[in-house]
Amino acid sequence: MKALVVVCDGLADRPVKAFGGKTPLEAADTPNLDALAAMGITGIVDPVAPGIRAGSDTSHLAILGYDPCEVYTGRGPFEAAGMGIELREGDVAFRCNFATVDENLVVKDRRAGRIEDTSALVDALRNIRLPGVEIKLASLAYRCALVFRGEGLSYRVSDTDPHATEVKVHPAQPLDDSAEARRTAQLLEEFSRRAHEILEMHEVNARRRAENLPPANYLLARGAGVVPKLESFSQRYRLSGACIATTAIIKGIARLAGMKVIEAEKDYIARAKQALLALEEVDFLLMNIKEADEAGHDHSPEKKVRVIEAIDAMVGEFLDFVQENYIVVMSDHTTPCSVGDHTGDTVPILIAGPEVRTDEVAAFSERACAKGGLNRIRGMDLMPILLDLLNKSEKFGA
Ligand SMILES: [Zn+2]
Repeated sequence: MKALVVVCDGLADRPVKAFGGKTPLEAADTPNLDALAAMGITGIVDPVAPGIRAGSDTSHLAILGYDPCEVYTGRGPFEAAGMGIELREGDVAFRCNFATVDENLVVKDRRAGRIEDTSALVDALRNIRLPGVEIKLASLAYRCALVFRGEGLSYRVSDTDPHATEVKVHPAQPLDDSAEARRTAQLLEEFSRRAHEILEMHEVNARRRAENLPPANYLLARGAGVVPKLESFSQRYRLSGACIATTAIIKGIARLAGMKVIEAEKDYIARAKQALLALEEVDFLLMNIKEADEAGHDHSPEKKVRVIEAIDAMVGEFLDFVQENYIVVMSDHTTPCSVGDHTGDTVPILIAGPEVRTDEVAAFSERACAKGGLNRIRGMDLMPILLDLLNKSEKFGA
């Protein structure tokens, strides 16, 4: 028996006025999700804890059974792992953006016009040397990851990214009194200054200026975190695991948990076939689907409905799989279109498979699932429930 966990990022929502008070999930036409809800057990989930506004990273850690309160210090390490940097426990990592600043270091564009190719810029930055630390860099368009490796480092360093335009770049500051935090802040300051010098002079930016494009002349850092020691997924659960995702941070979590990472096909049906193929090899597959979250951030309930209906068609490909195996469909957090960001509302979940105790719920939505047999669980409860259904749990007691 195998398990497929489909996490629809930011799928859950709040009632939408334009939909007569229905959520996008309630308004969408979802025959396949409803069929799975009818044949399965449903419930609602607090991704981290009631009312906590979980990020996708902390929520996915919890779904995989790693306590985010223990292992999570910032997004940096997961982004860096997702971008393919080989990390070691204790490395301090930052998520960075190539950005445009003016001569007074005032941020003009936090993504440098969404510059597409930054490989030559990253190569130039690899020449920067700082005392006592090894520097690692990787980039994906305007997104970049920066890693410091060495003794005496701390993740307790503030963002240099002001998270706004028309504001000056923030200085890196220690967030506690430790010598490690002070030193790391100094290193980040020095790195940022040298990076700015190099980027300012770089031919890529000379070309961009000539073409009236914003130069990628600053690296804004945020989300400092220390690389945690995650017990490997296969050791922890005695299941081989893989992950299909498009976002670096989710891939990074899977990589740090020692799971196989599969680059997702764009087309959902092709992705479903990828998933079924992967499940011929592994016992457990985590599939993250990002687009519903983007619709929430874009304040677009109509777009969210379209994404949900596309997900529903994809889920139709799994109806045979659940005859012999388990499927979980859930959201990792709520991203209400009215808010445009994550909130702490619960999210719906369904588990279908050979031996689940079916409940009366026959629709997959925030409110329908609230009446389901799983009742209200936390993200961290999922793996124990799943292991139990797979008959892979150990008995507690005699
Ligand atoms: Zn989001």
